[in-house]
Amino acid sequence: MINDKIGRRLTDLRISLTDQCNLRCAYCMPKEIFGPNYPFLKRNEWLHFEELDVLVKTFLHLGVKKIRLTGGEPLLRPGIVNFVERLKDHHNVEEITLTTNALRLAKEVQALKAAGLSRVTVSLDALDPKILGEINGRGKSPDIVLNAIDAALNVGLSIKVNMVVQKGVNEGEVLPMARYFKDLGVPLRFIEYMDVGNHNGWKMAKVFSADEILKEIQAEFEIEPIDLSSSAEVAKRYRYKDHTSEFGLITSVTQPFCGGCTRARISADGKLYTCLFASTGLDLRKILRSEKYHKDQLLSILSKHWGHRDDRYSELRAVTKNAQEKVEMSYIGG
Ligand code: SAM
Ligand code: SF4
Ligand code: SF4
Repeated sequence: MINDKIGRRLTDLRISLTDQCNLRCAYCMPKEIFGPNYPFLKRNEWLHFEELDVLVKTFLHLGVKKIRLTGGEPLLRPGIVNFVERLKDHHNVEEITLTTNALRLAKEVQALKAAGLSRVTVSLDALDPKILGEINGRGKSPDIVLNAIDAALNVGLSIKVNMVVQKGVNEGEVLPMARYFKDLGVPLRFIEYMDVGNHNGWKMAKVFSADEILKEIQAEFEIEPIDLSSSAEVAKRYRYKDHTSEFGLITSVTQPFCGGCTRARISADGKLYTCLFASTGLDLRKILRSEKYHKDQLLSILSKHWGHRDDRYSELRAVTKNAQEKVEMSYIGG
């Protein structure tokens, strides 16, 4: 469906399966805040798979074609493989993807592929073990992630890698990462560090911009842009002239793309958000668990909600103070 106010089509649904994670990336869940006493959701507060299935069916009626499973860390949610299988049974789902830190990917990858997963996006911010261990807050080394990527390639799963680049932290890893994934033939997407959630201490000065990333890469490689004028992609894509590999830039901070924002997001606790930076969401769990709920109402509730959206946080970032509380990234998963 198309939003009448700003003409935004709804094509993608992101589902956060849990707010919990086995890492503590400082830009997402800093360990000082997300410590042992942090009030994570209880199991019954997550949307059940049956409830998610009802929502998915309705979103498919509204035009959604792609579903991404995310978190927190989605591979911590028991039953995810069966859920992928269930999603695949809806004939109009074109793509089911997963975003993961890959700590548990290697042992699930075969089953996920067999269940019908189309692609996996793995997050990896550095190849240097010391730098990576500090970013992820748990000292986890890149080997485990690189092995999982190899395992995914071995079962024929399509892969992308996400790298969040922070100035003063891992900009020195841009070239080593570019070289490694160019040779492997896996698209690497550089993401500008964003002011998501309320606890990561984001400052514009910590953003290593897409222009700066591009300059680093151009110093070593000959590249050319891939024409995406007819596509709804948010990444700006480039190919290496001497290779079939490509990379992308996600310029959410320095060149926002709110006008092309076609995603709805369901948080782990069942709220519907139409923007990564929203402070409130529509409580779908409450609706689905209410005694008065009737399934015929859902289509009109969801279509009205999408029809009224006018979010464009990133476009307004520079001109407003945006001091409101925002949903945590670990609740809605990027
Ligand atoms: N745990 C999984 C993972 O890390 O892939 C899925 C959830 S994570 C919230 C989804 C994506 O959001 C990851 O690629 C992560 O790097 C990105 N992300 C988290 N915080 C971010 C921030 N402050 N700025 C930019 N990207 C961020
Ligand atoms: Fe966990 Fe992903 Fe957030 Fe890192 S980015 S803390 S892996 S949810
Ligand atoms: Fe979409 Fe909000 Fe990001 Fe703009 S700021 S692209 S509306 S999620």
